[in-house]
Amino acid sequence: MKMMPAGLSGRAYAAVRTKECLDRVFKELTDLVYPRRCPICDRVLNRDEQKKLICLECENKPVYIHSPYCFKCGKQLSDPSEEYCTDCKKRNHSFVRGVALYDYSSVRMSVYRFKYSGRAEYAEFYGREISATFTGLFRKWEIEAIVPVPMYSGKERMRGYNQAEKLAKSIGHEIGIPVYSDLVKRRKNTKPMKMLGVGERAANLKNAFIMASNDVKFNKVLLVDDIFTTGATIDAVADALMDAGVSYVYYVTLSIGTGC
Ligand SMILES: [Zn+2]
Ligand SMILES: [Zn+2]
Repeated sequence: MKMMPAGLSGRAYAAVRTKECLDRVFKELTDLVYPRRCPICDRVLNRDEQKKLICLECENKPVYIHSPYCFKCGKQLSDPSEEYCTDCKKRNHSFVRGVALYDYSSVRMSVYRFKYSGRAEYAEFYGREISATFTGLFRKWEIEAIVPVPMYSGKERMRGYNQAEKLAKSIGHEIGIPVYSDLVKRRKNTKPMKMLGVGERAANLKNAFIMASNDVKFNKVLLVDDIFTTGATIDAVADALMDAGVSYVYYVTLSIGTGC
């Protein structure tokens, strides 16, 4: 039983205890109505699993990108003597370099639910994993600001949230770097990228991003998105940021494919 702290009247102490009680009941009710789910299999987590934010059976299921990976785009490489993937050897990018957490094929359904099925809560687990893996690198890159890849406002209203923003905020919270969600805006509803080839993707995105300010004071910015495919989207946002005065654009994505 708790002791009554010195300096509190009986009535004040009772009020504090009542508030503690109500907070606990509120949290338990919230967990009951919106039970926390495993980001990989979507099963409701039990009490022990809730601290880890993932269920015991799924802990080893996501495949992490590991060394060697492309020094430019972060894609998994199989040959340790290679520095860049075949795509980055052929093509120039506007960004300096980027990294990705997972091999996309191992988290495909999870990413799908995160984007399209209202599972914004997964961002907490993902952000924690990204910061546990890459905080040292982000510090080395001297990142000053985190910017999510923006979503067209009409689409965001329909979906209810921008998953890249949820992820960016979770990473920012974990590593203590500010997140600027309104710095870049997406001004047109571009065609779905998966239907387009590499050249068409770049044309589709030309002038799609505009800046809220044309005099950005940050030198080094980290872009955040859920998936890296050809890099056309990251390049287009990087171009907009650099036109507004940013010198170096890096990125982190939740997932990346093995080829493109
Ligand atoms: Zn699971
Ligand atoms: Zn590459």
